[in-house]
Amino acid sequence: MSGLALSNVTKEFGSFTAVNNVDITVPHGTFVCLLGPSGCGKTTLLRMIAGLDLPTSGAIKLDGDDITRVPTHKRNLGMVFQSLALFPHLTVGENIAYPLRIRGVAKEEQKKRVDELLAMIHLSGYSDRPVSKLSGGQRQRVAIARALSISPKLFLLDEPLSALDAKLREAMQVELRQLQQKLGITTIVVTHDQREAMTMADTVVVMNKGEIRQAASPIEIYRRPADTFVADFIGSTNLLEAEAKAGAVTVLGQPVSGISLGSASKATLSVRPEDVHLTAPGNGALSGTVTFVRDLGGTIETFVDVAGRQIVAVSTPRARPDVTVGQPVGVTLLPDVCVVLSK
Ligand code: ATP
Repeated sequence: MSGLALSNVTKEFGSFTAVNNVDITVPHGTFVCLLGPSGCGKTTLLRMIAGLDLPTSGAIKLDGDDITRVPTHKRNLGMVFQSLALFPHLTVGENIAYPLRIRGVAKEEQKKRVDELLAMIHLSGYSDRPVSKLSGGQRQRVAIARALSISPKLFLLDEPLSALDAKLREAMQVELRQLQQKLGITTIVVTHDQREAMTMADTVVVMNKGEIRQAASPIEIYRRPADTFVADFIGSTNLLEAEAKAGAVTVLGQPVSGISLGSASKATLSVRPEDVHLTAPGNGALSGTVTFVRDLGGTIETFVDVAGRQIVAVSTPRARPDVTVGQPVGVTLLPDVCVVLSK
């Protein structure tokens, strides 16, 4: 297969297992985000792909070749880490050309490549500027261009945008994805930001405690989370206990219609806030009381207490529910979008 394939990759540090038996396939030209909370093993996994750490067991293949023990400099990788590690005393052009220079690429060729890359990162004309005179976002782009200068087979980035402020970060996510699509380069990015992963990735690999919990497209992960961890980690959701007895389903102890738990007698329902509708009490809806309304302008979040649990409903201003704090309401969970989770 062309692309990257990890099979049964495990990394132990003493008695601690940082990455546990991970299988991942990254087809050539795709963009994968490794996503998960701090300490889940994302960086360790990326370091093994980069050749900076050796797996305790398992194999890593690139375009069919086993690279598990191939040193980093022979893997043909482009890498960008959070720290960027640009050379502060060099110009933009010298930074980008550096990997070419140490590979002995001819001066003319270096210049041509630098110009191409500068155009690609929207910094044409910046070649002679010292990197110390650039903004954070510009530096980020230079680091990306430097990593891409050698036309690597694999592009690896570890939290590349985390030092940027929120607005710039969002803009750079789009830029990075567009650049990756233009070049068709196989790319793996570590992030703990689910929004970032959903913006950029073809496949999101959600990790927890060294293990993969789900690997799928962003929308699949959002709409059909594999378990409660994934459901809760990606976006916000309402996780509600449900029970089935003699065909009748209750949620938080109250009967509901239209929801099936399959063959399970107990399960957790994951219901996204946009799939919760507030109605008049009765008519098979859960009974609750409005406790808070958060009006963010673009969206309105209504918090409802149902049997001591908080359910959040989100709507747009046009579909704003006509409710006030303290008011009894009915809470309807749209059955076809409720996800029934067994763990
Ligand atoms: P973060 O988002 O905080 O960077 P991460 O998901 O990238 O987290 P890793 O850096 O891969 O997590 O670390 C996974 C676990 O392995 C952590 O518990 C960490 O303490 C441990 N770990 C990482 N490197 C080493 C090491 N060299 N020796 C011992 N333990 C390590």
